[in-house]
Amino acid sequence: MKNLNPFCRIPAEVFAQAARQYSTPLYLYDGDHISAKCSELLSMPNAYGLSVRFAMKANSTRAILLRIAEQGVGIDASSLNEARRAHMAGIPYSKIILTTQELHFGEDRRDLEAMMREGLFYNVCSMRQLELIADFAAENTIALSMRIHPGIGSGESASRNTGDDYSCFGVHSSVLEAALDFARQKNVRFTQVHAHIGSGGDPEIWRKNIDVELDIVEKHFPDAVSVSFGGGLKVARVPGESESDLAFLGEYAKKQFVAFYERTGRKLHMEIEPGTYLVANAGYAVTTVIDKKSTGENGFDFIIANGGMEINARPLLYGSQHPFYVISAEGKLISSDFDSDIDKYGKSVVVGVCCESGDSQSLDDAGNIVPRPLAEPDIGDLLVIGGTGAYCSAMTPFNYNSHTQIPEVMATGDKLTLVRKRQTLDQMVTNEL
Ligand SMILES: *Cc1c(COP(=O)(O)O)cnc(C)c1O
Repeated sequence: MKNLNPFCRIPAEVFAQAARQYSTPLYLYDGDHISAKCSELLSMPNAYGLSVRFAMKANSTRAILLRIAEQGVGIDASSLNEARRAHMAGIPYSKIILTTQELHFGEDRRDLEAMMREGLFYNVCSMRQLELIADFAAENTIALSMRIHPGIGSGESASRNTGDDYSCFGVHSSVLEAALDFARQKNVRFTQVHAHIGSGGDPEIWRKNIDVELDIVEKHFPDAVSVSFGGGLKVARVPGESESDLAFLGEYAKKQFVAFYERTGRKLHMEIEPGTYLVANAGYAVTTVIDKKSTGENGFDFIIANGGMEINARPLLYGSQHPFYVISAEGKLISSDFDSDIDKYGKSVVVGVCCESGDSQSLDDAGNIVPRPLAEPDIGDLLVIGGTGAYCSAMTPFNYNSHTQIPEVMATGDKLTLVRKRQTLDQMVTNEL
């Protein structure tokens, strides 16, 4: 029996079983894949120690957070609510770094201070954030991290580049000296320098950022004992895409950390905070084929699935490619993008049920339809969309067209656990007055 792809640990029949048990559409997560990714990241080569944090904005569901936390991976929160949510899941604040564009006042500010007293690491991302936090940090001798703007960046699309002039994240070099002067006057110490250059970008830019950041640490941050390179490690969702080479990047970082030590006598700890790399290829959106249509000889063959942009908006947002799998209702794998002979099939366009022609899983980054080869499914077959563990459940317009938010199921081998129920229509309208 063949599997959906070389890294999937869930048998095809289990997809059909999940569909029967919880009805489609649903997200199915491969728990063992997540655990394997944690081990892989934790054993990335390094010179003087490594910490890994999960960028929880990629997937914030409690069962995912706990699965990752139990492997010894910490949390990168991008909002105060994410920090609260991780804590509600049972993760201590001492395992969490907060890297946010937000500014906190009132009750939020009081909560932030309480979290920092319990060990939350605050990553200063702007001059204004520094001005607002400096006195509190100094009075309580709480050291801070600073997200710098490294001046280089790379992402899978322009909107996912967070490191160059296109993006406002982090403290820019033009105000860095002023920020550090202010911090010195206030007696604030920065023990970590942080940068996150973008998501799904060029691994070569990720490597270059190691040098850029170490140079900034050497010139400007005498108290820094740790350097975070953020997330942005790339995965290959479909055959032909290239994945970041952890061994290569780790070995390069190790070499540069050793050289840094030889120059300065300082042994720096390394930190990374992947989101995508940990969970993207652990997630599958399981839909049912409900209809088929064609726009004629010069048009396209459409396959209509019962879930689309409202469960995976990434093709529409970024032109991302996700692998397709056709599985019969009985659980037999019929075609997979990973089949070497996938091109023998005719090309179709997979769309959802939203009233929007961009509701398609077969788009390029300009929003044009790109038909893809797959076996022609029967009505009632499952159409499974892979690579949907990151930025899908946590980032979809899920109530568009009044669709309900779909359930999430965790598979460990062939054992299924419902980890989030399907939203009801009543829940959708409950806050309306
Ligand atoms: C989004 C984000 C990440 C994770 O990015 P991936 O590309 O999913 O690995 C890490 N750090 C910060 C600060 C982020 O905003």
